[in-house]
Amino acid sequence: MPIYEYECDSCGHRLEAIQKMSDEPLTECPECKQTSLRKLISAAGFRLKGSGWYETDFKKGKSSSEKSAGGGHSCASGGCGCAATGS
Ligand SMILES: [Zn+2]
Repeated sequence: MPIYEYECDSCGHRLEAIQKMSDEPLTECPECKQTSLRKLISAAGFRLKGSGWYETDFKKGKSSSEKSAGGGHSCASGGCGCAATGS
């Protein structure tokens, strides 16, 4: 059975009610007795379960395990001469 969440527009009181789909929505706030209850959309206790079925695919793709071994220089081959005069 779905759980509905209500909030009172007058006093801000919130409550949860387990109702059938066919039940009339609540309107009267038990706190301030105003008929200003508003049904909230997000149902508590209704959460998607079961992530992780794609995990095997995720582990296969190691993206970049190798970095450029230039130590920061883009001219690690020494073509520009900076590798020789450096260090
Ligand atoms: Zn109220």
